[in-house]
Amino acid sequence: MTTREPQWTDEDRDWMLGLALYRSWLCPLCGGLLEECTSHEDDGPEYQVRRRRCRVTDERLAAEEAATNVDRPRAVLTSVIKKE
Ligand SMILES: [Zn+2]
Repeated sequence: MTTREPQWTDEDRDWMLGLALYRSWLCPLCGGLLEECTSHEDDGPEYQVRRRRCRVTDERLAAEEAATNVDRPRAVLTSVIKKE
């Protein structure tokens, strides 16, 4: 018989259960609290749209669009790093 040390302690499991519970409160669409973003307009918070551009994603998309000679481009992992 083989016995192994458990990989997770009771505290680890408690943290993971807490994290799973917290994630269950979040909206899969906007990432906010489900209770708030699905509240009724009359008694819930008001929202306004704020638009910003993610420059990292912008650079990655531009590089992917420019790489027209790559075979099966959806299989390529493109990363963006800060210039020194
Ligand atoms: Zn939402």
